[in-house]
Amino acid sequence: MTDPIPMRRPIEFIDLGRQQQRIRERLDTAVARVLDHGHYIMGPEVFELERRLSAFCDVRHTVSCANGTDALVMALMAKDLKPGDAVVVPSFTFCATAEAVSMLGGIPIFADVLEDTFNLDPASLKQAISTARDEGLRLAGVITVDLFGQPCDYDAIEPIVRENGLWLICDAAQAFGAIYRGRHVGTIGDITTTSFFPAKPLGCYGDGGAVFTDDDETAEVLRSLRVHGQGKDKYDNVRIGVNGRLDTLQAAILLEKLAVFPEELEARAQVADRYDALLPVELARPALLPGTTSAWAQYTLRTPSRDAVLARLKEHGMPAAVYYARPLHRQKAYAHYPVAGGELPATDRLTATVLSLPMHPYLTDEDQRYVAASLQSAFGAVQAAAE
Ligand SMILES: *Cc1c(COP(=O)(O)O)cnc(C)c1O
Repeated sequence: MTDPIPMRRPIEFIDLGRQQQRIRERLDTAVARVLDHGHYIMGPEVFELERRLSAFCDVRHTVSCANGTDALVMALMAKDLKPGDAVVVPSFTFCATAEAVSMLGGIPIFADVLEDTFNLDPASLKQAISTARDEGLRLAGVITVDLFGQPCDYDAIEPIVRENGLWLICDAAQAFGAIYRGRHVGTIGDITTTSFFPAKPLGCYGDGGAVFTDDDETAEVLRSLRVHGQGKDKYDNVRIGVNGRLDTLQAAILLEKLAVFPEELEARAQVADRYDALLPVELARPALLPGTTSAWAQYTLRTPSRDAVLARLKEHGMPAAVYYARPLHRQKAYAHYPVAGGELPATDRLTATVLSLPMHPYLTDEDQRYVAASLQSAFGAVQAAAE
C-alpha cells in the first residue's frame, strides 16, 4: 500500500518554541532585570505577577507558589485537612490531585466523570458521599478537576457540596483562563489552584503554581504556609508550612507570558473550532458546556479503536498522546482507596478511548489540515482492517 500522507515539517504536540520566538526580546529583558536587581526570592516580580493574576481572573487574592502540586497541598493545609479525613477526587486526572490528599494523611475517595466533558459526574459525587458514610469516614471536602481546560459543571456540583457541609477546592492546573457561565476560573470554589508547568496553558520555564481565593483569612494562612508557616517573619513560626515560593525569575517570565495570554486563549479556541470542523464526526469531539469556555490544555477525542489509530499516527510521525491511560483507582499507589459506588465505568471506558491531538495557540490552519488528514487516513485504515 502506498503512503497516502505526504511527508512534511514535523508538527509539535505543544510548540513552546513559536511562543518564545514571539516574545523572546521581552523575556530577555525581564530576565536581565532580575539578574540586575538580584532579589531571586520573593522579588518585586512575584508581587506584580500576583496583582496581575488577581486582576486577570477577578479574584481578591493570588498566592503564587512553587508548583501546582504544592498549590494543592497548601490549599488542603489551609482547609486544615487532618489525617484520616476523606476527600472526593475524580479518578480520571493527573496523580497530583489525589497525591496531595494522601501526602497529608487524608483518604481520597475516587469518583467517576462524565464521558462527554471528562469532568466530575455530579451523580458519582453523591455516590462518593454515600460511600464515605457507609465506610464510616469523616468526609471533609471535594477537589474538582477542570480537565483538559474546561471547568466542571459547577451549577450541579456546588449545591451538593454545600448541602453536605463540605469545602470545595478546584484543581485548575489545566484550566486557568477559562470561564464558567460568567465566572472566571480562580473564583469558583473556596480555593482554586493552578500550575505553571511549561506545558500548561499559562506556563513558565520551570516549575510554578498559584492558589486563588476570595477569602481574606484563607489568603493570609496561605501566605504563611508558603514560607514555613511564618508569623510576623520567617523566624516566627506559627504553624507547620512548606517551602513553597515561586522563583522571581519564573515570575518575571510569567509576566511576559501573561501579557500575550488573552490572545493565546482566543487562538486556542480558534484551533479547537477548526479541529471541530475538520475532523470526521465518527471521532467524538470534545463537548463544551453552554456558556463555558475552555483554556484548551488538550483537545481530546474519543474512539473505540484508539490504540490502532494511535499506532497508525505514530507510524506517520504524528504526535498524539493519551491522557490518561490508567485511572488513579487502578494505580498501585492508590488502588486501596475507596471508589464511589464500587466501580467507575465511564472512567474505565475513557482510559481505553481517549486520544489528544497537538494543541497550542500557534498551530496553523495548514498544520491542522495535515493532522486531520493523518487522522482520517489512520481512522480509515483501521476501519478497513476491521471489515
Ligand atoms: C499538572 C497538574 C497538576 C500538578 O502540577 P505541577 O505544577 O506539575 O505540580 C495537578 N493537577 C492537574 C490536573 C495537573 O494537570
